[in-house]
Amino acid sequence: MNYYSLNNNAPKVNFSEAVIKGLAPDRGLYFPEEITPLPKSFFDTIETLDNVEIAYQAIHQFVGDEIPEIELRNILEDVLSFDFPVVEVEQNIGTLELFHGPTMAFKDVGARFMARCLGYFNRNNENHVTVLVATSGDTGGAVANGFLGVKGVDVVILYPTGKVSAIQEKQLTTLGQNITALEIDGVFDDCQEMVKTAFLDKDIIDYKQLTSANSINIARWLPQLFYFLFAYKQVKHKRKDITFSVPSGNFGNICAGIVAHKLGLPVKQFVAATNINDTVVQYLKTSEYNPKPSKATISNAMDVGNPSNFIRIQKLFNNNFEDLTNAFSAYSFNDIQTKEAMKKIYNSTGYIADPHGAVGYLGLKKQGINGSDYGIFLETAHPVKFLDTVEETIDVKVKIPSQIQKVIDKEKKSIAIDSYKKLKEFLLG
Ligand SMILES: *Cc1c(COP(=O)(O)O)cnc(C)c1O
Repeated sequence: MNYYSLNNNAPKVNFSEAVIKGLAPDRGLYFPEEITPLPKSFFDTIETLDNVEIAYQAIHQFVGDEIPEIELRNILEDVLSFDFPVVEVEQNIGTLELFHGPTMAFKDVGARFMARCLGYFNRNNENHVTVLVATSGDTGGAVANGFLGVKGVDVVILYPTGKVSAIQEKQLTTLGQNITALEIDGVFDDCQEMVKTAFLDKDIIDYKQLTSANSINIARWLPQLFYFLFAYKQVKHKRKDITFSVPSGNFGNICAGIVAHKLGLPVKQFVAATNINDTVVQYLKTSEYNPKPSKATISNAMDVGNPSNFIRIQKLFNNNFEDLTNAFSAYSFNDIQTKEAMKKIYNSTGYIADPHGAVGYLGLKKQGINGSDYGIFLETAHPVKFLDTVEETIDVKVKIPSQIQKVIDKEKKSIAIDSYKKLKEFLLG
């Protein structure tokens, strides 16, 4: 399988080159040259397949010959070692819980898959890479955990000082080994800006191979399509039309869902649920795409004003606005509505949703779920990751799970960085 740049001004590459580079040299996102649907028999018998088999069938065309079947199956076995349950919260509405991994955010699967692919590509010490990543919270923890101890990969995480939650900070600063946390004097956009500058800095890229672990990287992005297949496996027997509502920031997760649909997954409608960072919502209304600076909300992992994967979604609909708006809708909700939804879900069902999941729930409600539909909203993080907001909003004590307790007790280690010059010195040092 080859990948081309969506800016159409860079050579085609295979899977391993696309993963190692992250972004094409013309700054475009890589996109698969073709997507071949899975046979009908796959969907007819999906409930008889285990998750690793489902994932292997779905991903191997994207990996091609770059990783042999046995290795790829081992990687998937390792990556998918936890559950992805659909929990029914109301009649005809379920939540797909994606927070049962080691850092309790859905990014664990993509981060772990990418880490193990890079580890494989470096098995003969040929492809040493430095993963440089900016985080507003969840990405850093998942990447740190996923890449810990992976041979030939150094990870450098930039996070804004004082702007991530206490638990998130512990998750990215306490692991050591090949993981370094840089504490940036600024906000998330400053971290992101420094990362972008480094990727274009000839002094640095001539000296070391940098790659990104954000969802622009195909190995972080594509494995997320498994979730939609795992959900289908669980609700198929209901014989309903499925609508997925995906809490969206960079639109990588929902974009992977649309790839699953291209593979043949029956889906009636995709709903992108956003907070007040509503660039895509406005685009669907006006057909004008106007990126904006991000605004802070209680669903902070979705505070993105210029979603990087939206261009891939447009491509999946052949850049046809009408086709896009037929199958894909987007709604935005503010923090007050999000808190109201958290309260409503808890009071009527006893289910504790985190702010991101609550936005997903609101998306389904706005879309409308009728008797022949089954709506699934994705729960992208465990409520404990947003402890203060959750406890304050619904007045409960959330029990701290063991994987979180483990990091809370560890000692933070970070390096303070107050300018791009300091980052450059660190990377060249
Ligand atoms: C990253 C993240 C999102 C947004 O996912 P995208 O793929 O960027 O749209 C939503 N919820 C949580 C908890 C996240 O960490």
